[in-house]
Amino acid sequence: MAKYTPMIEQYLSIKAEAQDAFLFFRLGDFYEMFFEDAILASKELEITLTGREGGAEERIPMCGIPYHSAENYIHRLIEKGYKVAICEQVEDPSVAKGIVRREIIRVITPGTAMDSKTLGEPLNNYMVCLTILNGMLGFAASDISTGELYVTSFPYSQERLLDEMNIYAPSEVIGDAELMDIVQQEYMQWGKPVLRTPWTKIDDALVVRQFGDAAWSRLEDVRRRAVSRIVAYFSETQKRSLGQLTQIRSYEPEHYLILDPFTRRNLELVETVRERAKKGTLLWLLDETETSMGARLLRRWIDKPLMQRTAIESRLEAVDKLFHQFIVREEIRTQLKEIYDLERLVSRVAFGNANGRDMIALRTSLQQIPALQTLCVESPSVTLRDLASDLDACSDVLAWIDQAVMDEPPISLRDGGLIKSGYDAHLDQLREANVNGKRWIADLERRERESTGIKTLKIGFNKVFGYYIEVTKSHIGSLPEGRYERKQTLANAERYITPELKEKESLILEAEEKMVDLEYSLFVQLRDRIAEQITRLQKLAEKVAEIDVYQSLATVSAKHRFVKPVLTDGDDLVVKSGRHPVVEAVMNGGSFIANDTKLRRDEEQILLITGPNMAGKSTYMRQVALICIMAQIGCFVPAEQAEIPMIDRIFTRIGAADDLIGGQSTFMVEMMDIQVMTEKATPRSLVIIDELGRGTSTSEGMSIAQAVIEFVHDRIGCKALVSTHFHELAHLEESLQGLRNYCMAVQENGNDVTFLRKLIPGAASTSYGIYCARLAGLPDLIIDRAYTLLQGFEYTESNHQMVVREAAVGQATEDVTGDVGQTASVPDATTQKAVEEPKGVVQLSIFDEE
Ligand code: ADP
Repeated sequence: MAKYTPMIEQYLSIKAEAQDAFLFFRLGDFYEMFFEDAILASKELEITLTGREGGAEERIPMCGIPYHSAENYIHRLIEKGYKVAICEQVEDPSVAKGIVRREIIRVITPGTAMDSKTLGEPLNNYMVCLTILNGMLGFAASDISTGELYVTSFPYSQERLLDEMNIYAPSEVIGDAELMDIVQQEYMQWGKPVLRTPWTKIDDALVVRQFGDAAWSRLEDVRRRAVSRIVAYFSETQKRSLGQLTQIRSYEPEHYLILDPFTRRNLELVETVRERAKKGTLLWLLDETETSMGARLLRRWIDKPLMQRTAIESRLEAVDKLFHQFIVREEIRTQLKEIYDLERLVSRVAFGNANGRDMIALRTSLQQIPALQTLCVESPSVTLRDLASDLDACSDVLAWIDQAVMDEPPISLRDGGLIKSGYDAHLDQLREANVNGKRWIADLERRERESTGIKTLKIGFNKVFGYYIEVTKSHIGSLPEGRYERKQTLANAERYITPELKEKESLILEAEEKMVDLEYSLFVQLRDRIAEQITRLQKLAEKVAEIDVYQSLATVSAKHRFVKPVLTDGDDLVVKSGRHPVVEAVMNGGSFIANDTKLRRDEEQILLITGPNMAGKSTYMRQVALICIMAQIGCFVPAEQAEIPMIDRIFTRIGAADDLIGGQSTFMVEMMDIQVMTEKATPRSLVIIDELGRGTSTSEGMSIAQAVIEFVHDRIGCKALVSTHFHELAHLEESLQGLRNYCMAVQENGNDVTFLRKLIPGAASTSYGIYCARLAGLPDLIIDRAYTLLQGFEYTESNHQMVVREAAVGQATEDVTGDVGQTASVPDATTQKAVEEPKGVVQLSIFDEE
């Protein structure tokens, strides 16, 4: 074995403690990396790889980064999914005997980042711990940058695991090794890359110390294990107490509306399917929050819509009152604008990395609270009044900061300039001495000029020589002999010192050093004192977040003319003139066509929707799901009227996200989703299937579609919206009592087809597939041939189906007034005209005329 120098030996022994991380080894003003770490880091960070003698024959690969710009490099490695162990010198090199002692002071990982760069804007950054005990999955999720810790458990199934993972979208997962593999195989195709570490260490004692006996004893075993492991992981990597974790929030997943990953993705709740961006999502539309904690809370609400009517109604009450009170709403917004990210600020305080500017941000935020509180207490909303009446504004904390911290402190805590005068008598004395010393120097300069007669003589200071007297070369002759000691020669000046000056200098510098030290320790004392108030501050932050979300939902609802939904414990889902909120918002002046929805048990619980491509089927189906979700969040809904029952689950099977799943055929994926649906859906669920049965042969596709619809109707009994291009399935209306045919109205006028985007009773006569092909610009030759073939196929269709279809078409045309749907014939293939958006749209309604 190679024998290395003592320092490299020290490096190797420390590296052994952090094998899965880059070891940033502090050497003077640099963090150095050696061996494999250096080779990999030089590639990942694009920095130069050098070498160093280390006692062995071969030079040791090495690369380094300056200490002061480390944050940037750490951020880049964390972003790439690595861990970074920070190893510092833990004793003063000037007093160390032999090699300076070094220790890892913290391991930074994607799920434990605290710096603002890695955390980015307001989004949560979760760490998740997974474990299975007796068939139950224990699931803990924590964001140490905000101090949140959630835990839940449920009978293990891969689907449920992925459902829960998708709510948190963690950047790091720890726990049972087998589960880490499942996360890699199953979750990563949905979510962002996530760092996985098998982890079984627990620290029950620490959990009890941190959260108290009562919180611990309330937890079931599997939840305890999940919490204990995540806390042990934090403690081992962060190597300090995490005072910001004050509360274990234990919850039952079934208390929330369950949305599987596919549905979340498909409905574009927080991320669009294609760009995976926020713009164009429900979150984007609803987000008029003014604070970061409000933005995070809004997202949590969207991720977990509620199921208890009373809880939702209390949210709606606040939104309703703010909706109608424009001025109160605006005043609340104004107050919120000045509030910084309280959750993260207090987490930094507890973590021990808050600086002077964080304190000022905390101060500014706390200053806004009394006015915000008054606005809420005086508002007409019971919910807001309840929220604000016992709100603790933490005015003592505000006063402490106000008395202690300078208005514009520097970022660094080691340069002074932090603490106000009048706060600490000793500090004031030192400052006084310092000022006096500097005054004495100014005085000396004046005296020296007078005694030497050199007007340009000056006293300066630099870090190497301290204070000096500077005289330009032309005046050197006028200096008295022997009084000055030459210290430094410049191109056109000489610098001198005198014993008197040096004596004063040491007094000044000593005072300055003491001052900086004292300011630092006063600051840390203040920070620790505030850290003890963390529970109060977190509670305050939570309330501010909630107020912010109410105003956001009210603002959006007013802006987009949403209405307050009526929530029911019953079964009927009735929406008058519903709209798709996001499609409408991005239509840029185009007018969105509203559509009604009536889903009632046993009468109309399944809508079988036919109609050409591009007619608006999937937009309609998504809109129904979004309206339910918005209502269950506590938001107003895009409609003229809405009665919403408590939905327990929404399944969607909509085409757009197919391409996300590599390696499996669309049809197979569809069947797997439908299998999950058959297992999990209850009578309170909402099922949405777009283009059921495509991707296989017509007869098979149609048979499967019919069998699935029958199953949903007979066995599950839930609400369902099913679109299909098999217009032949319309006959199901005769055999299934709760199924109704609907189609998207199309206006045929000579050779033109206009999509009216209006849902009307009855089945479409044809799926217009060839017509769409023509719109897409396929050559006439293909189009003509396709129509000829189609006529041939239609001729051979069974008589029964023809009869059923024609009956349905007849019904469709009856319900439509005006010149809509007069013919059900195949459009003429010989002329090509563009489809026009509806102009004067006929009033169509599935509601009885009032
Ligand atoms: P389909 O699922 O029937 O193929 P889509 O729902 O994808 O049709 O709708 C096609 C396009 O029509 C959408 O991109 C949207 O811009 C527009 N659209 C859909 N529904 C409406 C509506 N109700 N009002 C106005 N435009 C609509």
